[in-house]
Amino acid sequence: RTVRVDLAGRGYDIAIGPGLIDRVGTLAAPLLAAPRVIVVSDETVEPLYGRRVAASFEKAGVKVGSVVVPAGESSKEFGAFGRLMNTLLDARPDRKTTLVALGGGVVGDLTGFAAAVLLRGVDFIQVPTTLLAQVDSSVGGKTGINTRHGKNLIGAFYQPRLVVADTDVLDTLPRRELLAGYAEVAKYGLIDDPAFWDWCEANGAAVLAGDAAKRSYAIEQSCRAKARIVAADERETTDLRALLNLGHTFGHALEAETGFGPDLLHGEAVGAGMTMAFDLSAKLGLCPAADARRVREHLGAVGLPVRLRSIGGSNRRNWDADKLIEHMRGDKKAEAGRLTFVLARGIGKTFVTRDIDEPAVRELLDAAIAA
Ligand code: NAD
Ligand code: ZN
Repeated sequence: RTVRVDLAGRGYDIAIGPGLIDRVGTLAAPLLAAPRVIVVSDETVEPLYGRRVAASFEKAGVKVGSVVVPAGESSKEFGAFGRLMNTLLDARPDRKTTLVALGGGVVGDLTGFAAAVLLRGVDFIQVPTTLLAQVDSSVGGKTGINTRHGKNLIGAFYQPRLVVADTDVLDTLPRRELLAGYAEVAKYGLIDDPAFWDWCEANGAAVLAGDAAKRSYAIEQSCRAKARIVAADERETTDLRALLNLGHTFGHALEAETGFGPDLLHGEAVGAGMTMAFDLSAKLGLCPAADARRVREHLGAVGLPVRLRSIGGSNRRNWDADKLIEHMRGDKKAEAGRLTFVLARGIGKTFVTRDIDEPAVRELLDAAIAA
């Protein structure tokens, strides 16, 4: 299966399916400016798939270098990024060298940004290995790193030349990571595709259990949705691309409160955040209560933590509505301190608003904390 991302002059394909990890070289070779790539991966993914990706390039006559970074968000720190750039330069790349991001969203964001600035810009290819990266972060061209002021505050819009999503690599992904990625899959149904949401309700469990055909379908639909939105609003200059932030205002606050650490994964926060966005929509009389219930029930049924008391690990006792609202204001998507929400008139009917009164948000948070 192939999904095309249409961008004037810089369009690219997303190849999706089983076994593609062994075909990365063949798929990429015709697109390379020169037969030289450097594969960037992390310490978990490289031992699992690094050899196979390298072999696929060598078979296609491409010279392969390799750089491995520690697994986890810490590799997106400023200092870690500096070390990566020096390691990449040690390999003597030139402007025709292509970087290959082999890993989850961390490796993808990091490698994409490295490609944007290495020698003032070299090509890069995404080989996403988490469900989250396959359906979200590898598509759309947002790349970046973290600073002590927050996540992804330094970065670039920089599109890959190709994305290769092998559905089989998800078999080695920890269940919690898989579930977290599923929240972003379901998000596309909730944003503007009620038929896909119905499909998720019926097939989500099978996707998570490893049904290959359903996995491919879920990833394809997700990539189509994201590609369509990105093509219409590449640089998030209108509210269209902002719809992709459904659940992210609440989710970001939950993540900030748990330190963006292993206590609460991004996708878990988004799952909880989407239930809160629908609950707030229902509370404000914008959306049928039955739709908000469906969201909570499905995400809960597949195993996502949708109740505040069930999330946050060691920090879970500390939920505080004031602190959460403070984090929402600090979100880089908040304009001039005004809270920005994606709310819903129903499943598949979302919109962006900056006109929500804080007391309503506070009441909702208090109720969610008490529930
Ligand atoms: P991640 O990259 O940290 O991967 C999660 C964990 O799974 C890591 O330990 C990794 O080593 C391991 N892993 C990856 N693939 C595996 C596999 N196939 N088998 C076994 N283990 C595997 O996290 P993520 O959830 O993929 O990505 C999160 C990052 O993505 C965050 O930094 C976030 O800011 C970013 N993000 C970016 C965008 C964007 O548009 N650029 C969108 C959403 C999220
Ligand atoms: Zn997200």
